[in-house]
Amino acid sequence: MTIRTRFAPSPTGFIHLGNIRSALYPWAFARATGGSFILRIEDTDLERSSQAAVDVIIEGMKWLGLDHDEGPFYQMQRMDRYKAVLAEMVAGGHVYPCYMSMAELDALRERQMAAKEKPRYDGTWRPEPGKVLPPVPEGVKPVLRFKNPQGGVVAWDDKVKGLIEIRNDELDDLVIARPDGTPTYNFCVVVDDIDMAITHVIRGDDHVNNTPRQINIFRALGQEPPVYAHLPTVLNEQGEKMSKRNGAKPVTQYRDEGYLPDAMVNYLARLGWSHGDDEIFSRAQFLEWFNLDHLGRSAAQFDEAKLRWVNAQHLKAMDDTALSVLVEQQLAQRGITADERLPRICALFKDRCDTTVALANWAAAFYADITPNAEEHAQHVTDAVRPAIAALAERLSACTWDKASISAALKDVLAAHGLKMPQLAMPVRVLVMGTAQTPSLDAVLELQKPQTIFDRLKNA
Ligand code: GLU
Repeated sequence: MTIRTRFAPSPTGFIHLGNIRSALYPWAFARATGGSFILRIEDTDLERSSQAAVDVIIEGMKWLGLDHDEGPFYQMQRMDRYKAVLAEMVAGGHVYPCYMSMAELDALRERQMAAKEKPRYDGTWRPEPGKVLPPVPEGVKPVLRFKNPQGGVVAWDDKVKGLIEIRNDELDDLVIARPDGTPTYNFCVVVDDIDMAITHVIRGDDHVNNTPRQINIFRALGQEPPVYAHLPTVLNEQGEKMSKRNGAKPVTQYRDEGYLPDAMVNYLARLGWSHGDDEIFSRAQFLEWFNLDHLGRSAAQFDEAKLRWVNAQHLKAMDDTALSVLVEQQLAQRGITADERLPRICALFKDRCDTTVALANWAAAFYADITPNAEEHAQHVTDAVRPAIAALAERLSACTWDKASISAALKDVLAAHGLKMPQLAMPVRVLVMGTAQTPSLDAVLELQKPQTIFDRLKNA
């Protein structure tokens, strides 16, 4: 069997990390098994869907490398197909018109609530042998309801939650077409999952309640349902369900904040799945290890500090040239043009950075003007050391530009002025890099342009 999975987001808000994890697992499962991954945009909620939200979904998936093999398919473009299948359902006797008005439904609900019963449609318009239906009211367009099987159970072996069994008697007859003939959500999902030959539905567990209804519709259409895996919720740092309303950021914001796609994939993968105690792994390792057997059962909690740590690990391990491409983009956004020194600059500073933004902050000191930190300037750039700084500038101007010669120049000046390394190195760092906390001074100076150093030392 060829595995076929899908990600079926509703573009009703900017996709956040909790949502995109529901893309990561089906993508990984398809990739790990040589299957296909399909992107479907569930845009039937016209009021709440937006193109901007679709763009963030597609951009975010592209950034994270969650490439799809088919789609994006838009449900709004498949209306004719749903209506054709609906007609089959009508012909097959699986649906019936229901003329109950909103007011009647409300009254029914109130009666049921008062009797402490679960509110549900009571089957008034469901045709049964020998049953006399109420007279059809005039001028009322009916909804179409699905004839849910009566008696028995709907059961599935959920890959996350284990065996789930729901009694059919708990399910009422679902509306599958509105009075204007447009199909409703659960019906469209089933038609799509059939047409797209989906073998595994991996989605958030907010859909668990839909699943028995969807399975019954599958069967009415003569199809066997796919395998289901319902993923537990992702909670935010406050322990609430992650959502845009309580501050979740759009996925693409993490790109802008300097996170690496592989680090995000690593972090998100661990948010609900595990491979022993492995915390840091590459995309290739993840795909090698991923299966549906180690999905976590309990809600995972987002932790930004952990994400930063994971990012820092990937940043350190990343190839310097590849890293410099990302840093170059960050610099370009600030109007700064980098040059061939950038990979070496990345190599020198990446250990002290957890994002490419932090790395770009350091790199900027090599390509754009800096403002030395005032406090550190006052502390380190003192009258006592100014003559040595001037001497260093002089000495460096006659220097071959490599680390050994720069180091020798520093030592000469220290000896001539009776200073210890930090007494000269700290003010030089503040003047040249803006701060006294830098990697080894000779390594930093070697990567700076001599003219930049002279200009900055002159401002002592
Ligand atoms: N469109 C649904 C959502 O965004 C997903 C439906 C599904 O995966 O079946 O929550």
